[in-house]
Amino acid sequence: MDVAGAAARVEPRQARGGAWWRENSKEAYNSGLDALARALQNWLDSKQGKRKGRVVGFPRRKTKHRTRSACRFTTGAIRIEPDRHHVVLPRIGRIRTHESTRKLARRLEAGTARILSATISCTADRWYVSFAVEVQCRSPEPRGVGGVVGVDVGIRHLAVLSTGQVVANPRPLDQTQRRLRRLQRQLARRCGPRAPDGTRRTPSNGWKQTRRRLGRTHARVANLRCDGLHKLTSDLASSHDVVVVEHLNVSGMLRNRRLARHIADAGWGELRRQLGYKTAWAGSRLVQADAFYPSSKTCSACGAVKAKLPLSARVFHCEACGLRIDRDMNAACNLAALVKDVVAGSGPETVNARGGDARPGLAGLTPAKREPRASRMLG
Ligand SMILES: [Zn+2]
Repeated sequence: MDVAGAAARVEPRQARGGAWWRENSKEAYNSGLDALARALQNWLDSKQGKRKGRVVGFPRRKTKHRTRSACRFTTGAIRIEPDRHHVVLPRIGRIRTHESTRKLARRLEAGTARILSATISCTADRWYVSFAVEVQCRSPEPRGVGGVVGVDVGIRHLAVLSTGQVVANPRPLDQTQRRLRRLQRQLARRCGPRAPDGTRRTPSNGWKQTRRRLGRTHARVANLRCDGLHKLTSDLASSHDVVVVEHLNVSGMLRNRRLARHIADAGWGELRRQLGYKTAWAGSRLVQADAFYPSSKTCSACGAVKAKLPLSARVFHCEACGLRIDRDMNAACNLAALVKDVVAGSGPETVNARGGDARPGLAGLTPAKREPRASRMLG
């Protein structure tokens, strides 16, 4: 939640040298050391091959000029005031929040949540406090009313569902490019912290103002994207029993320099991540098609597979049965049909077996990995 004026509360500096250590909460130093410890562990695990994903390098030094200011409080008085507009943090004290704290306060009052830690951070000139909370939730019961939905994500439309629904892509970065270009030109004209010859100088107030505006604009882009994705994934997970998505190698596709910006703007990776935990919360199931399942090239009516389908072909035309259907809709229908096939044929166990490539005739289905932790982040 957004905090008003947390930055303004700076305690008077003491005259004697070395006294700054006690001005700050010890958590400010601890969260830095904690991050260092985790970074070293990740580096070591990566080196020894115990860690999946990209290679992690040795931790680099940070500077306050270029990193997000953040600090995590794990002990002491962390409270939410009953007026639902104030938060109490150790050393900082009582601060007013811009956003109401009612969602978390209701859970705390009912005794179904416990605050584990609070993190304050600064993003684009605004201070935020987020709580890591342990929440007791009823184990969701499978409802069996929403049916199966296939989701084909794309750039032209953010998602096309097998139910016929088309979700528009808000393209937040594309929409803001004009303003960003203008601000970046303005910033380059103004007197920044580096002179043209590379020497340091005091940045002008105009430069600082433009930098602030640029930061706010980037933050707005991120917020628009985040909002659209949350609305879509919440709707998908709560109104269907099974959500079928295709396997997307997003980081691989980002290497396409013509499409990278549009793919990153759509936020496919985040969409997939949110579906993973939201289906677990809602009691629905997320099924991911095998990476090599030809969802676009298969005919959703007769099952014939095309050898080639150029990206420019927006309409799928089947030579075998004469079907004409929107390309993305065809893919979404194929994804939805995938689950019906497997459940009817061999029961749900086959679907749940991970890395199910045992039968090469069928597309191997891999259930999505789910977070084992019980705690959720509320913010
Ligand atoms: Zn066909």
